[in-house]
Amino acid sequence: MHLSRFPRVRLAHLPTPLEPAPRLSEALGVDIWIKRDDCTGLAGGGNKTRKLEFLLGDAMAQDADTLVTQGAVQSNHVRQTAAAAASCGLACEIILEERTGSTAADYVGNGNVLLDRLFGAGIRTVPGGTDMVAELETTADQVRARGGRPYVIPGGGSNAIGALGYVDCAREIVVQADDLDLEIDRIVTATGSAGTHAGLVAGLAVMGADIPVLGIGVRAPKDRQEANVRKLAHETCALLGHAGRMKDELVVADCDYVGEGYGLIDDGVIEALKLAARTDGLVLDPVYSAKAMKGLIALAGQGRFEGETVVFLHTGGAQGLFGYHSELDGKL
Ligand SMILES: *Cc1c(COP(=O)(O)O)cnc(C)c1O
Repeated sequence: MHLSRFPRVRLAHLPTPLEPAPRLSEALGVDIWIKRDDCTGLAGGGNKTRKLEFLLGDAMAQDADTLVTQGAVQSNHVRQTAAAAASCGLACEIILEERTGSTAADYVGNGNVLLDRLFGAGIRTVPGGTDMVAELETTADQVRARGGRPYVIPGGGSNAIGALGYVDCAREIVVQADDLDLEIDRIVTATGSAGTHAGLVAGLAVMGADIPVLGIGVRAPKDRQEANVRKLAHETCALLGHAGRMKDELVVADCDYVGEGYGLIDDGVIEALKLAARTDGLVLDPVYSAKAMKGLIALAGQGRFEGETVVFLHTGGAQGLFGYHSELDGKL
């Protein structure tokens, strides 16, 4: 594994801290450490910044002048992409899918959307259920038609190039654990478009560090989520020159905590937001990290992590909270 073989633009504040969460640990009866990828820096931080370092490296190597990407209306990925484009002197065209169906003023105008506008991105909004892959191509064609050079980034920045960012994160976690004399039994992360989960599993496999990773799903059912992560993890290993290195059974997702659907919050999500905030002062997000924490809380209650040291990957997303004001109002 030799990541400096890949073009990269430095965007993130790295390494992010690996910190104990003493009060959360006490509340759940499990030794919990937090990998603070909410602190990657760019545009307020979050997990997409690590992927964008390699995606922007590739875009710049191809001499692109416009990034094109897509996501849900309150997408953290889109916000970080818009900021990355601005900081590299590129234009940015984004397509937002009305995936949750929310028309609340703060959902469509505050939080990540406000920041997308601040970073100067061109925004097009389409109804939920639209074929977003086709929309990316339509926008890329429009950029070409006006003489531009588009670079298309898939939703969540989740392809093998983007997943290299989480190969690097896996390396970081192992180095930090060795420095701290910390024996990690498991890593828990939200898993959505799959790049984070796949990059971690691929990175750990290639390093030969057999730390199990549990992905808590936020959208797809377990079978589909695991298949998506497995495929991308294999592609990432191949890109690293280690095709076939990862065993299929290393990809494990638990998708029992999605609730009503992607981006829809419930009492368990609100409880998770409150617990993290009121124990160790952590700001989770309603779509991803609080759903993962909802799962962590439930599984800890079932004794799943008995005697373990668990690293919870805080993937960021606090900016999205401000898009959920009307749903959280009066419940905090
Ligand atoms: C995108 C995102 C995730 C999920 O990461 P994937 O690589 O898409 O699986 C988790 N947390 C936050 C805050 C995100 O924005």
